[in-house]
Amino acid sequence: MRILVTGGAGYIGSITSAELIRAGHEVIVIDNLYQGHRAAVPPEATFIQADLANRQELSEIFAAYPGIDGIMHFASYTLVGESMEKPMLYLRDNVTNAGNLLEVAIAAGVRRFILSSTANLFDQPERIPIAEHERIVPGSPYGESKFFIERMLHWMARIYGMRYACLRYFNACGDTPERGEDHDPETHLIPIVLQVALGQRPHVTIFGDDYPTRDGTCVRDYIHVLDLASAHILAMEALDRLGERRYNLGNGQGFTVREVIETARKVTGHPIPAVVGPRRPGDPAVLVASSETIRAELGWQPRFPDLESIIASAWEWHRTHPHGYDD
Ligand code: UDP
Repeated sequence: MRILVTGGAGYIGSITSAELIRAGHEVIVIDNLYQGHRAAVPPEATFIQADLANRQELSEIFAAYPGIDGIMHFASYTLVGESMEKPMLYLRDNVTNAGNLLEVAIAAGVRRFILSSTANLFDQPERIPIAEHERIVPGSPYGESKFFIERMLHWMARIYGMRYACLRYFNACGDTPERGEDHDPETHLIPIVLQVALGQRPHVTIFGDDYPTRDGTCVRDYIHVLDLASAHILAMEALDRLGERRYNLGNGQGFTVREVIETARKVTGHPIPAVVGPRRPGDPAVLVASSETIRAELGWQPRFPDLESIIASAWEWHRTHPHGYDD
């Protein structure tokens, strides 16, 4: 298939692009390089530097590259914490950019779409692990923006026959030998912990240890980026028979912040000092996925089910790329 990947210079988008190419698909990447890295885009992909805010430019891209079979939409502002400080970047820009993309895609006849969605839809889950039918209570403007886009897709399906899957990632992490997580500034737990191990930070701050969990720190479901990539490809290839789908994507196992730090100490052999700080606004206490639906419907199976192998893959990238893509 000829797949358009927005955000294909970003962490999950670039690794999924590489996996798409490995699976024999053709990839066209659009990225504005606001957060992404040109060097992360696989050399076999076509790269277009463009911004989804510019609808005219998007129309020209679809005209220049006819016959796009499907879209994977990764490009987005993605930080819960930032969204609590700059809500309109999320509630306006994420939503408008997705709207531009969908409008132009529909006009060009594209009817397959995979959305990067999020566990932040489930701020107050009634049941853990969290299944797709759990009530939706976005935990932040970030989660709300993804919920809007999920709803947009629902109406595009009803009105135009769009086939789509919303993949709600829990905590994406892990790296491949060629590509890894490189954000500036870095806000995610595993890369921060590994930066401490590299001597780039004196310590990691634990955001709150008074949550109602086994050690007082937040519980998250850490899922390897290659397992997310395989879910995208399986879903895209199955969309014609699936129609309209939402899948929660995680390992189904939760780890506390302290357990992540402890595992990283084991993997790196570094003491990784940790200090406790205040809670981060927008963080729910526990987010663990039930991924039974995608397992049953698409035969998806995580290849990295344990935290140690995930952190070991991240350590390999960070050790060999201590300055990320600048190396
Ligand atoms: N976290 C932390 N210290 C940090 C970064 C993150 O304690 O420096 C915690 C955060 O509060 C959350 C978990 O680690 O409970 C995972 O956070 P991350 O930002 O990696 O992913 P998110 O859960 O926001 O998607």
